[in-house]
Amino acid sequence: MTGWAAREAAALFPTYARRPVTFVRGEGTRLYDDSGREYLDFLSGLSVTSLGHCHPAVADAIASQARTLVHVSNLFFTQPQIELAERLQETTGWQDSKTFFCNSGAEANEAAIKLTRRHGKRQDAAKVNVVALDGGFHGRLLGPLLLTGNPAKHEPFQPLGDWVRHVPHDDPGALTAAVDDQTCAVWVEVLQGEGGVRPVPPAVLQAARDACDRHGALLVVDEVQTGVGRLGSWYGFQGTDVVPDVVCLAKAMANGLPIGAVVARGAAAGGLAAGDHASTFGGGPVVAKAALAVYDTISQEGLIEHAAAMGRALGDRLVSLVERMPLAVGVRGHGLLQALVLAEPVAADVTGAALDRGLVVNDVAPDAIRLAPALLIKEAELDHMAEELEAVLRSIHGDGDGDIS
Ligand SMILES: *Cc1c(COP(=O)(O)O)cnc(C)c1O
Repeated sequence: MTGWAAREAAALFPTYARRPVTFVRGEGTRLYDDSGREYLDFLSGLSVTSLGHCHPAVADAIASQARTLVHVSNLFFTQPQIELAERLQETTGWQDSKTFFCNSGAEANEAAIKLTRRHGKRQDAAKVNVVALDGGFHGRLLGPLLLTGNPAKHEPFQPLGDWVRHVPHDDPGALTAAVDDQTCAVWVEVLQGEGGVRPVPPAVLQAARDACDRHGALLVVDEVQTGVGRLGSWYGFQGTDVVPDVVCLAKAMANGLPIGAVVARGAAAGGLAAGDHASTFGGGPVVAKAALAVYDTISQEGLIEHAAAMGRALGDRLVSLVERMPLAVGVRGHGLLQALVLAEPVAADVTGAALDRGLVVNDVAPDAIRLAPALLIKEAELDHMAEELEAVLRSIHGDGDGDIS
C-alpha cells in the first residue's frame, strides 16, 4: 500500500483525499485489496456499479463489442447508440424523447444547460437564467459547478457568471418567487446525493413543475446518482408526482464505464439542433453495449422491484441502529441511497473504522454515512452490514448502550 501512495503523490495531482486501500479485484458485492483481503461494498463506487463488480453480462458485452467495433466517431450511425436511446424512451415512458450521449454526469448537466438555454432563447434572448437548489450537486465543469449549490466550491474559480440563482432545497415559496420570465430552467435532484442524501420535499418538486409551466421554463431533474434503478424505480422522478422535461443520467448506466446522457421530452426534445453540441466518444459502441447489458439485466432479473424491497429492508436495519445506538440519530433517503445520521461529526472516523473491518461506506457529510449498495444486494448482506456498523459505532462511541448524555 505505502509504495503506491508514495508513487501516486509523486505523479498525480492531489485532488482526491484517498482512503488507504488499493483495490485490485471485484466480484459482485465484494472487493479485494492488494493483500487479498475481502470487503463488502456498500458504496458501489459512488452509486455506479449497481450490478455489482464485473457482472458477467456487462463483461461479455464489453469484450465482444471490443472485438467487433470500438470507435468510428459520431460522423456515422452506430447501432448500439440508437438501441440505447430507444431503451431510454421505454424506461422513461417518453416515446417522443430525444437523447444526447456524453461521457459523465457533469457532461450530461453541461449538455442540459446548453439545451435549456437554446430552448429559452428561442422565446426571448434574455431567457437564460437557471434556478437551482442549495446543496444540489451537478458536477465540476464550469457550468455544472455554478449550478452546484455549494458556494465554497465556486470561490476558487470565480467569475463563473451570474445566470444561476440558488434557493433552499426545502422551501417551495422561495423557489416559486425565484422563477420569472427570464428563467429557462429549474434544476433539481429528487434526492440530493452529494448534498448529504437529502430528499427534496414533494412540495418543492411540485412548486418547480408549476413555476416552469407558468413561465415557459424547463424542469431538469439530475438523476445522475438516483437513476437506473437505485430508488426502486427506473428513475427517481417516477417515484414522485412530478414529470420533468429533461433528465440527466450517468453513473450507473454502464456499471462503471464512462457514459452520460441527457434525455428530453415534449418541447424540450427540440432543444438541441444540428451543430449545437457534440462529443467525440459520446455513445460509442462499447459503452452503449455495456449500458444495454445493464438495462437488459435489470429487466430480466427484476432488479427494480428487488431494489425497492431491499431499500425498505435497508431502512429497517438503519432505523434499528438508531433505536439501539446513541451515536445513530436518524435516517435519510430511500431505496438503495440512504444515510445514517450521527449525533456527532465523526462520520470520517466511522468510515475509516468500517473499512478496517472490511465494510465500504462513505462519509457523505461530517455527520452522515452514505449507504449505496448494488441493486442485487441480498438481505443477509444487509444484516452483515448492520452488524459491522453496529460494532463500529460501539467502538467509536466507547460504550454504545448508555445514553449519549
Ligand atoms: C456524481 C454526480 C454528478 C457528476 O458526475 P461526474 O460523472 O462525476 O461528472 C452530477 N450530478 C449528480 C447528481 C451526481 O451525483
